[in-house]
Amino acid sequence: MGVEYRHYLIPEENDFRPGPVEAARLIAALVEARFVARTEADPFPTPFSYSQTHEYTEGSSCFLLTPADRGAVGDGRPWPSPCKAEDLARLGAGDFRLGWDVEPLETSGLVYPLTEVPDDAYYTLELHFADDFVYETSEQIDPFRDSDVTCCDRRLDYWVPNDEEGPSMFAQRIRRTCPSCGREFRPQHHLANHRHPLTGERRERRERLGGATYRFAVFVDCGKCFPYPVKRFLMNRDLVAIVERTLGRTFYEIGTVY
Ligand SMILES: [Zn+2]
Repeated sequence: MGVEYRHYLIPEENDFRPGPVEAARLIAALVEARFVARTEADPFPTPFSYSQTHEYTEGSSCFLLTPADRGAVGDGRPWPSPCKAEDLARLGAGDFRLGWDVEPLETSGLVYPLTEVPDDAYYTLELHFADDFVYETSEQIDPFRDSDVTCCDRRLDYWVPNDEEGPSMFAQRIRRTCPSCGREFRPQHHLANHRHPLTGERRERRERLGGATYRFAVFVDCGKCFPYPVKRFLMNRDLVAIVERTLGRTFYEIGTVY
């Protein structure tokens, strides 16, 4: 078992990705409900990382990561929170991540995004936007069958290699369309096995349509800060309700350690 925990909220229709207007509306709703901080409006006491020690947010509370920044959060750039749809539109249809570092939760005045608040909680809440599918697999999340990710005798899944600049932003991917016949890949038509890594009594693996494959996800990186063992460790119900209401579709959750 690994030592860091990640939790995903993924659309049941895995190929969904919100447009700039919907995404801006979601961020505004998350700010309003105190799941993420508002730029420079909140006088956080020191030491509060996003305004004090993490220069990459420069007091904006939010950071932007693009593939040019690689996968290292500290290489991000400040991003306004909330933001305008026009600003998001300028980021285009490629890959990017918007994130909010919270450390510690206690002095932030924010609402914890999962159901069980660990002691001295810290975490990063992110919104992931991807062009080709992000395809997360782990010891708890099995890959799709080889035949599921093959079309016209070619594999649709691929790895974005790391290079000297650092890790790639989303490493394991599946093409949205087959380069030979143009058929669209639909993750929601394929099963992956999964088991929750933190609820020790539930050892059995469950089938999950779509696995952890997405073009858009709400992502919480708990790092080493999570309760264990725990009976239930899910997204805060209010957070799920905001996401589902704002984007007008249903979502599911999947967690993994790494
Ligand atoms: Zn094909």
